[in-house]
Amino acid sequence: MAIRRICKYGEKILEKKTKKVDFAEIKKDLPALLSDMFETMDAVGGAGLAANQIGVGLSLAVIKIQREGEEPLSIVIINPEIVERSGSMNEEEGCLSFPGLFAKVKRAAKVKVRALNEKGLPIEINAEGLFARALQHEMDHLEGIVFISRLPLMARLKLKPSLLKLKAQWKKLDESKMIRPM
Ligand SMILES: [Zn+2]
Repeated sequence: MAIRRICKYGEKILEKKTKKVDFAEIKKDLPALLSDMFETMDAVGGAGLAANQIGVGLSLAVIKIQREGEEPLSIVIINPEIVERSGSMNEEEGCLSFPGLFAKVKRAAKVKVRALNEKGLPIEINAEGLFARALQHEMDHLEGIVFISRLPLMARLKLKPSLLKLKAQWKKLDESKMIRPM
């Protein structure tokens, strides 16, 4: 298990659509990849991480949602697809590839997603609220879409100065060199 470096905004892989996973082909390497993804996400306290954020151009992502008074919900989605969406919400969102940057992003309030799980079995997820937001955010990553490109033009322009300032710091940031908490 290892913490991996997270790709930051400006790196080409984040804006490239990922490849569909051939489960039989990846099966052997999947446990190690997934444990690295969960470890990396946990190390920086994220709610989701797409494979291309650690430089792997495959259609898979991990999500971890902490609900009050409940055990955290950890989920793996492989080749996910949104089959239904309804309503809308406009809440603040951040991204591990844009550390320190937050913006309100419009998303569907509820989604139904079909995917494969870590065992290669088909799953169907009905999600709302934070979980629905995390699913849509990670699935955007898999399509090569970063969250700021979902913003209206004016909001994007307003964000530009802080984006440029943060970008200089992101270059020096390497999560794989983080000291692991004991
Ligand atoms: Zn993200």
